[in-house]
Amino acid sequence: MKTAMKTIQAIAVSPGIAIGRVMQVRGNSRFQEPELVRILPEDAEKEVGRFHTAIANAKSQLAELQKEVRQKLNTTGADIFEAHLLLLEDKTLTAEVEKGIRSGLYASEYAVFLAVEKFAAVFGAMKDEYLRERATDIRDVASRIMDCLGNIRREGISIEDRRIIIANNLTPSETAKLNPKNVLGFASETGSITSHTAIIARSMQLPAVVGIPAELTETLTADDKVIIDGYSGKLIINPDERTEEAYRLRSRAAGKLLSQLAQEKSLRSETTDGFCCQLAVNLDSMEKLDEVERSGADGIGLFRTEFLFMNRNGLPDEEEQLGIYKKLLVANGDAPVIVRTLDVGGDKFDSVIYRNNEQNPFLGLRGIRLCLHERQDLFRTQLRALLRAGVSGNLYVMIPMVSSVREVVTTKELIAELQEELKAEGREFISHLNFGIMVETPAAAVMADRIAPLVDFFSIGTNDLLQYTMAIDRSNERVAYLYRPSHPAILELIRMTVEAARKNNIFVSVCGQMAADPFLVPLLLGLGVDELSVPPSAVPIIRRTIRSLALSEAEEMTRQALLCSNASDSLELSSRLLQKSAPEIAGMQMAVTE
Ligand code: PEP
Ligand code: MG
Repeated sequence: MKTAMKTIQAIAVSPGIAIGRVMQVRGNSRFQEPELVRILPEDAEKEVGRFHTAIANAKSQLAELQKEVRQKLNTTGADIFEAHLLLLEDKTLTAEVEKGIRSGLYASEYAVFLAVEKFAAVFGAMKDEYLRERATDIRDVASRIMDCLGNIRREGISIEDRRIIIANNLTPSETAKLNPKNVLGFASETGSITSHTAIIARSMQLPAVVGIPAELTETLTADDKVIIDGYSGKLIINPDERTEEAYRLRSRAAGKLLSQLAQEKSLRSETTDGFCCQLAVNLDSMEKLDEVERSGADGIGLFRTEFLFMNRNGLPDEEEQLGIYKKLLVANGDAPVIVRTLDVGGDKFDSVIYRNNEQNPFLGLRGIRLCLHERQDLFRTQLRALLRAGVSGNLYVMIPMVSSVREVVTTKELIAELQEELKAEGREFISHLNFGIMVETPAAAVMADRIAPLVDFFSIGTNDLLQYTMAIDRSNERVAYLYRPSHPAILELIRMTVEAARKNNIFVSVCGQMAADPFLVPLLLGLGVDELSVPPSAVPIIRRTIRSLALSEAEEMTRQALLCSNASDSLELSSRLLQKSAPEIAGMQMAVTE
């Protein structure tokens, strides 16, 4: 019997709306424990040879798949399989399998299973979501080796008519093989926004959600109809007629708007009265580097460097960092790239760097505090690498968590000392480093007039500015209701920061999540910021938002908003202006956030 209409809140990983009948995919990434088969000691070398033949076959299959994906999708999709090829060549993994065959006298299948589970467990236990997701990639590669050992050739999931896949897990290979003509979208139990399956889904423009309850993969049948809302993360089971119709309309409007927005890539983010607001992107790894170009953004407004230091054995030396920063700068040509120095602490900690045994880590040795006090060694290496990389592009460097003038002065002294050091060593480096700070503590905003003469720019980190101003742990959902960027205290701190910047002729960017919310963009423009830096996916919407607004109207509205006593009233004013200037954006976002 068909279940009644039910809405499940899952996690949105690929935007878009899909409506259709269900197709169940069970079997959990094909990678299952094989039968334990032992071999005789005299057969060990022959077995090692069988394993290597399987590796060679898996490699040629992957190269083929990579070619197919490159033609069908884009380089990001294809690069994922480059990483899979590297895994096949990983010496530690092969050595572990060979050990299992030679010492454990296991048949290749079981030796592969043991080695892969060991590796996947290491990744699976990592704190970083991105690295944790790599466990899925390892299992995906392993099932390919298993198939090659058994001479099984899989053709991918076959789907006859247009269906929505409900799966416990989809591997990147399975996803890349899906035929978008037959598959409308998918919902899976496992996965995350950074999983390669999600990345491929986005490249294929397949609406997708993850994190659905396990029982759904058992209870839903081919007769059930579902809606996947890849904007808000909803999965609606057996929608009633009204809901389905509403989603069809929404899907048409959103789809039309998004394809229009994609055409606007080369248009300037300029208001109707001629103010050019820089529109940059936030990146937190090298993974999405090609999305900067694809989005048509004016450069990188925040490059978080934590990924370089965390969840790894050992720390990156100067040469490794130099290589990465150079690549980042070269890829961006003349466009400005703002790199933020290490911001470990708060909820981002790692035992290699320091032991997190503080009672209140968000109020502890975080960001610049750690870099200047306990780990100046790391900071020096990072700054040296940045000074050297600076000759390759348009580099800006900023420090996080500033709360005093002293931190700025000490960092500048350190930079001057390192420049002397590099000069004495006869190395190439930049003699003027564009240097700025993140304004993300109330202290930095209040002291902006005294810090501005010392720096080249400010970047307002509204995520932390809210946390520290409102005294709410940004990761505590119980106080999330107080997380309101339009709160008068936040608007006032931004106003003070902009005023100090203007007086000292330096620019102000906003790189917190507030900049990516179209309902708040009128306020930020009205407050006088020069740049908005947002995740790559938000660039088209924010560009259109800026292009629809008149700066003079935003300023007038903001003057009123600054007099409001609470967050709702100022948000109401800003939303009204968005609704009037860009009703299509306001309408689409309603659908997304409701
Ligand atoms: C911020 O605090 O707004 C910010 C952009 O930095 P992060 O989210 O990395 O703390
Ligand atoms: Mg921050």
